[in-house]
Amino acid sequence: MRETMVLLAIAFQLLVATSGSAQRCGFSGGRPAAEVPAPSLPEDEIVIPVVVHIVWQQPEENIPDARVFSQIEALNEAFAAQNIPDGLVPNLFQPFITDTGIRFCLATRDPEGNPTTGIERRQTPLTIAPGGTQELHYTELGGLDAWDPDRYLNIWVTRFAGGITGTATFPEEAPPQEDGVEIHYEFFGKGGTPPYDRGITTVHEVGHWLGLIHPWGPGEPTCDEDDGLSDTPLSEVTYQGECPFWLVFSCGTPDMSMNFMYYTDDACMAMFTPQQRDLMWATLNGPRSSLKTSDGCAFTPVSTEEVGTSPFRLWPNPNAGRFWFEADTGTVVEVYDVAMGRLMLRLSANAARKQVAHGLSNGTYVVVWLRDGRIVGRQRMSVLR
Ligand SMILES: [Zn+2]
Repeated sequence: MRETMVLLAIAFQLLVATSGSAQRCGFSGGRPAAEVPAPSLPEDEIVIPVVVHIVWQQPEENIPDARVFSQIEALNEAFAAQNIPDGLVPNLFQPFITDTGIRFCLATRDPEGNPTTGIERRQTPLTIAPGGTQELHYTELGGLDAWDPDRYLNIWVTRFAGGITGTATFPEEAPPQEDGVEIHYEFFGKGGTPPYDRGITTVHEVGHWLGLIHPWGPGEPTCDEDDGLSDTPLSEVTYQGECPFWLVFSCGTPDMSMNFMYYTDDACMAMFTPQQRDLMWATLNGPRSSLKTSDGCAFTPVSTEEVGTSPFRLWPNPNAGRFWFEADTGTVVEVYDVAMGRLMLRLSANAARKQVAHGLSNGTYVVVWLRDGRIVGRQRMSVLR
């Protein structure tokens, strides 16, 4: 498999050299659905804890937290079928737009149960591009170790050679230490490098990680192979570097070129189908079922000893658009929408009590107190109006 991937990587680099653009996906392997999966129950919902390992060489590869939060947001929007641009999905395919019931959160507990931001960073001593290498997955080899893949989706963000946008491991096809998704830093999150600047590379690769293959089947695009799903039409075109704004055809039928598992530009991808949802749920009820009971995003109470003696307080809680807080000078207070993995507010304390008016919508948030970049406390905050 690794030899095949190396050969493919070389082939991709040649392709990139001639086309001058990034290669959409480095995934190879996987297999078509053996049978049409059983429909998932409408009430199925899961929130998958995510850890992001940023392995960087040049400072620009050490992307800011905001880009990570925007990627979690992009994942949640895509898997919930939200924010689909008007006119992108032809009438023919509108009935197939599917909320998968799959959601993502940045981990709040590390494998040992300690509070975490869900983001790890390391400047690597590696001189080769870490993307696609074995070294990326091992701290002792210059990368960062995976967190238990039975409890977390591991995403490595790093530099790939040859402009490959990302790759992923198929269920049960990689050793646990290397299980997960790898994304080229330029194409991670929202606001990266066009035309892959909306976080869809990660959506596509997480699709592979949950058991989906490309609509044209496991090998080169041909009408002789398929993904095994009847609601993604037979296709022999990848739409790499394209954004069709008319109905496009191959193998005698219209292609669903706006499906996330094509190679289309980010702005032109919009949907999973019902059978893709069911196949991903077959993975979540099968080889990745332990994720359903992961505590990776659970609230972590911090004991008095861990917090130390410095007081910090936030009140009233719940509140209706306004709260007070008080903490030592130098304490940073961050408010997260954990379900969306998004930082909503960042405040600095200066020993005096401060009143904050906020526009947060009703819901539950986690407030994290940091000193010198270290989490010293956290608590839930509810907003009720
Ligand atoms: Zn792919």
